[in-house]
Amino acid sequence: MGKDVAYLDCDVEEPNGRIFLKPEITKQIDVTVPVPRVDLDKCTFCGECSAACEYHAIAVLGKTVEVFASLCHGCGGCSDICPEDAIEEIPRTIGHISRGVGMGVEFLEGRLNVGEAISPPVTKALKKLAITSDVAIIDAPPGTSCPVIEAINDTDFVILVTEPTPFGLNDLKLAVGMVREIGLPFGVVINRSDIGDDRTDEYCHRGKIEILKKIPFNRRLAEAYSRGEMMFSVNSQYEKNLRELYQNIVNRISR
Ligand code: SF4
Ligand code: SF4
Repeated sequence: MGKDVAYLDCDVEEPNGRIFLKPEITKQIDVTVPVPRVDLDKCTFCGECSAACEYHAIAVLGKTVEVFASLCHGCGGCSDICPEDAIEEIPRTIGHISRGVGMGVEFLEGRLNVGEAISPPVTKALKKLAITSDVAIIDAPPGTSCPVIEAINDTDFVILVTEPTPFGLNDLKLAVGMVREIGLPFGVVINRSDIGDDRTDEYCHRGKIEILKKIPFNRRLAEAYSRGEMMFSVNSQYEKNLRELYQNIVNRISR
């Protein structure tokens, strides 16, 4: 549609956008968090760092100070509060960002290292990179926890993708509560819309939530997905539907 597009895969615990866009990666950037290192010669074992840490990532045990690096959010609170200036911050790599181009789309992917517990710093680092494209599409993880909020923060519009099942509806209600709390405009896409029941439709109708698109189940679509092919490659109707979806969102943002 004549736009430069960037795709940011912020589902950093299991990014899969590259399966479909098949990008050529030209750059990799490490994502680090600053974790404390204690100089025991300066430390008086007062325990203030441990008391200040909301994440229980630093503990004073007798005459030593233990840092649990995988729990550390790199907030800097312990080094700020240390009265002896005994804490310095050491960068620790928790993931990386891949950058490249796939199918003419600027491609950026965040990936959390296996075994790491805290993903929002990877998403934050990814979103901080300079994006020059007209449109940036952010692929967020499922759910309503911190990684999702980090991904959708500061966006113009959120698409909530659901399925018409009791489980899907439960998650949708939580997600609607989240985007309303943050104050972001949003709409719903119902995937596999011809299975399940009508309760998702009724919920959206009652809550004056716009259903942007319904995508009925299609075995050929599922097969294409499993081969790593894009939806629009299945038939031209999908391409038309996706163009309408995009234009609808642009119109809503403009309003
Ligand atoms: S706050 Fe500083 S001096 Fe006190 S226990 Fe922690 S590192 Fe040691
Ligand atoms: S940097 Fe923050 S999260 Fe990490 S140990 Fe210090 S206070 Fe805790």
